Amino acid sequence: MRTGYYTHPDCVRHEMGEDHPECPARLAAIEDRLISAGLDWVLERPQVPLAQEPQLERAHSALYLAELRDRGGLDEGYAWIDPDTRMNPHTLRAALRAAGAAVAATDAVLDGRLDNAFCAVRPPGHHATHDRAMGFCFINNVAVAARHALDVRGLERVAVVDFDVHHGNGTEDILAGDSRALMVSFFQHPFYPYSGTEQPASNMVNVPLPAYAAGAQVREVVAHHWLPRLREFAPQMIFISAGFDAHREDDMGQMGLVESDYAWITRAIRELADEVCQGRIVSCLEGGYNLSALGRSVVEHLRVLAGVEG
Ligand SMILES: [Zn+2]
Repeated sequence: MRTGYYTHPDCVRHEMGEDHPECPARLAAIEDRLISAGLDWVLERPQVPLAQEPQLERAHSALYLAELRDRGGLDEGYAWIDPDTRMNPHTLRAALRAAGAAVAATDAVLDGRLDNAFCAVRPPGHHATHDRAMGFCFINNVAVAARHALDVRGLERVAVVDFDVHHGNGTEDILAGDSRALMVSFFQHPFYPYSGTEQPASNMVNVPLPAYAAGAQVREVVAHHWLPRLREFAPQMIFISAGFDAHREDDMGQMGLVESDYAWITRAIRELADEVCQGRIVSCLEGGYNLSALGRSVVEHLRVLAGVEG
């Protein structure tokens, strides 16, 4: 397999204050585990461009993007978005790099230069709505890439798979009602951002799970709720909002997944992708805040994507 690993130093310069869980060390923790797993030499590391305005406008309003540029254009300190989310002088560039990675990975996979790709980027994106930053997210990387695949590359159907512990309200906000996209997710409920259960659009497969749900329950959701809908929809490409905060050791949520569950979920998605869309997968990092669990889980996710298991 040719698996791309997209990351960029700009994604480390964005930070939201000491002790903030969405911290630059997350990417170093992943990198460290990749090296110790011997995966770093298996992965290709393509260039990561900055996302361009027209690419962003496929998922966000021009007004919101202007506001983001305005607020992000600071010389020092922070611009506060919500109690958990703020911009430092490097945030905007990091967000453009993160979305640029997702778009570049999409092109590389569609052009056949890569079989699949993982974007080790931050800030994450799945809480960013059409016109609002929230929950550590500014630009919805997966939604920008999905719309690029549809609007620019001419695909007719794409799927988004979201296994973060939080509901991907931003992606749902952007893609709800777009019949060219199918989104499948599970998430802890009731829990931040307290959405996803009120009459979702018909292209949303939202499966709320109670706190302490663990691997067996999640695998059942994937097998009985996700896979049949994905198979029926037959996407031409699959995007993954890969959050690892449903891990048992991650205090951000109260779910009980472990590394082998992430490997299992990734394998199920990869097998489906092999079946319906020539294995085309672009996965983007979302949450995951226990640094050790995050690094270990991403390694298992990447082992499956790269086809170098055990
Ligand atoms: Zn999350």
